[in-house]
Amino acid sequence: MGRILIHACCAHCLGKTLAGLAREPEPMAPVVFWGNPNIHPLIEWRRRLKAVKMLAERAGLPLIANETYGLVEFCRAVHGHEAVPERCTRCYALRLNRAAEAARENGCNVFTTTLATSRHQDHALIRAAGEAAGRAVGIPFLYRDWREAEADPDLVKMLYHQQYCGCVFSEYDRFKDTTTHLWPPPGDAAPPP
Ligand code: SF4
Repeated sequence: MGRILIHACCAHCLGKTLAGLAREPEPMAPVVFWGNPNIHPLIEWRRRLKAVKMLAERAGLPLIANETYGLVEFCRAVHGHEAVPERCTRCYALRLNRAAEAARENGCNVFTTTLATSRHQDHALIRAAGEAAGRAVGIPFLYRDWREAEADPDLVKMLYHQQYCGCVFSEYDRFKDTTTHLWPPPGDAAPPP
């Protein structure tokens, strides 16, 4: 049986990816890979890493984790390219190049990414970045549209579920039009004690 390295950005998307892979005609042994210098701030990065570790343990899957917090690396990668889609193109390349290298170093036949489960990501850019990363190391990238896949609820129950993509730009986009963590306007409910 071949080994597939799964670049994992978070536990819930990893759960969906495992469900999608289970439908592949040829079974593959998954190896989970964590390498996400795009996730900020540090406590968010730790929450997501911890959830991925817990899911890998529940599922009995090997995990390769790059536990270096990559703030500087990410900032350098996107500096001068902060607008979408340029920023995301560079972010995908950063992570998938890293995943492709890990696949080669760990004897995997193919690699993929949990990003392909997201309804919020640009699938054409993900696929292009994955295929380019794969060509560079001689390991094929498996793209599937797993947006409709459903994670096993037992695998993801109680695990941290993030509210934004990862970088501080995406955190701003997620919350800028909300009043999250603001006092309510005058006349609304009283502030908490
Ligand atoms: S929005 Fe998401 S994919 Fe785009 S740069 Fe930020 S973390 Fe990366």
